[in-house]
Amino acid sequence: MTANTLFYIIIAIIIINFLVDKILDALNAKHFNDALPNELQDVYDDAEYQKSQNYKATKYKFGILTSTFSVVLTLAFLFFDGFEFVDNLARNYSENPIIIALIFFGIIMIGSDILTTPFSYYSTFVIEEKFGFNKTTKKTFFLDKLKGWLMSAILGGGILALIIWFYQITGTYFWLYAWGLVTLFTVFMNMFYSKLIVPLFNKQTPLEAGELRDKISAYAKTVGFKLDKIFVIDGSKRSTKANAYFSGFGSEKRVTLYDTLINDLNDEEIVAVLAHEVGHYKKKHIIFNLVASVLLTGLTLFILSLFISNPVLSNALGVEKHSFHIALIAFGMLYAPISEITSLIMNVFSRKFEYQADDYAKNTYKGEPLITSLKKLNKNSLSNLTPHPAYVFMHYSHPTLLQRIQNLRK
Ligand SMILES: [Zn+2]
Repeated sequence: MTANTLFYIIIAIIIINFLVDKILDALNAKHFNDALPNELQDVYDDAEYQKSQNYKATKYKFGILTSTFSVVLTLAFLFFDGFEFVDNLARNYSENPIIIALIFFGIIMIGSDILTTPFSYYSTFVIEEKFGFNKTTKKTFFLDKLKGWLMSAILGGGILALIIWFYQITGTYFWLYAWGLVTLFTVFMNMFYSKLIVPLFNKQTPLEAGELRDKISAYAKTVGFKLDKIFVIDGSKRSTKANAYFSGFGSEKRVTLYDTLINDLNDEEIVAVLAHEVGHYKKKHIIFNLVASVLLTGLTLFILSLFISNPVLSNALGVEKHSFHIALIAFGMLYAPISEITSLIMNVFSRKFEYQADDYAKNTYKGEPLITSLKKLNKNSLSNLTPHPAYVFMHYSHPTLLQRIQNLRK
């Protein structure tokens, strides 16, 4: 295949991907005003419902703007040989392929982040602010950016450097070593993310002794689950939106509750949410997701190893001199349709797991407080209650509120 053909395949993938996404968004938006099903009549009162309608419409329009900007930017970069320009820039500083790759990705990442910052700034301080969600200060917003850059420079840069080094020493077999490295990293992050990374951004405090903690312990005992690590995180530092999640495994397993969740829900509802999280653990969803992501990474790296040495990948992006990092970018763009499909499959599993975790909460605790908690959470984030089924199929990691309520009442 010629570099020119490959170039146009990449362009086609980007445009088709964009169009499919926009068609789904439009389809979804067409159903914003659908009548609410009976089960969901009591989620909003009239004023809140109107507010949620405005929120959806605002986000929809803003989404068209940001995604159009980013696709135009990518296409312009491709048509005007942006990658070659940045590659030459990086080559001015070093002859070492690892250093060149690090500078190259550094420029691309920071450059695109700076270009998209006005959009995320607008989203946080204008849209989220207008609808009463935003609690982020400008200082936190920019500090988050800096910390994010620093973290991807250290972690992403470190992993990239090692992978290129493996490629230099072992050639095509680099994928096996890279797979081992990424697997170790993934397992390590799964275990220690809450301990090492979260504290950089949030404060976590153990849930204080008292009625709520006693109720949680009493429930955990009935299902034989050791749940001594319950933390409250200051989610209210950034947004009024609430959440709860499970992380780690073995002795490192812990539950994290947003302070906003504790404010919004009563004790019974919080225990029901926790019972759902315990369900994920007991039904081995956490291990499944970990194993699936390790296997998918292996598959991706293996396919990468088949193509990475082919200069046509670099040439397709207008870069004469073949190198690992340019080929990696081209591969990433060509691989997009496959990763769309794998993420779609993972969503199918995820939605199935949500039903199983809901069933677990219903069977070991109660269904009704889970229903009221889900209604409150949807109301407080002004959720769309009438998503289009095609949109749900592609994008939703959770069943819709209606589907979950119907399942919980079964
Ligand atoms: Zn869940």
